[in-house]
Amino acid sequence: MDANLKREIILEHYQNPKNRGLIDDDGYIKVNTNNDSCIDEIDLMVKIEDGKIIDARFDGEACAICTSSTSIMIDSIIGKTLEEAKEILKNFTNMIDEKEYDPDILGEANVYDDTYKQPSRKKCALLPWWGLDKVIKETDKK
Ligand code: ZN
Repeated sequence: MDANLKREIILEHYQNPKNRGLIDDDGYIKVNTNNDSCIDEIDLMVKIEDGKIIDARFDGEACAICTSSTSIMIDSIIGKTLEEAKEILKNFTNMIDEKEYDPDILGEANVYDDTYKQPSRKKCALLPWWGLDKVIKETDKK
């Protein structure tokens, strides 16, 4: 992906993040996740019905990389089954860690494919996905 296009996508998601703002609804699984090497602290809430993610929202204070990554993650997981979400999560984590991954299933999340060049930013991009991992583990417990 072209570097300018990547910057544009990141900026767009940073300025107009998807589903920002929490709502008062007990039907969501809520998790908090933070990054001590940056300002990032995010509350994530995800609604799952019949093994499918039907909504996800977030709020918090975070840098451009983390906010955009959260917005892109929310875009990519809504409507997916938990199994599909796990697959996206695995591929995203592999991409950031420079392991083998499938770019076809990551969509806009491919904008972070050179984040490994800035090790201090890796956590920023990964943070929302760690939140998703917590949500999935909560679901597995039930
Ligand atoms: Zn950050």
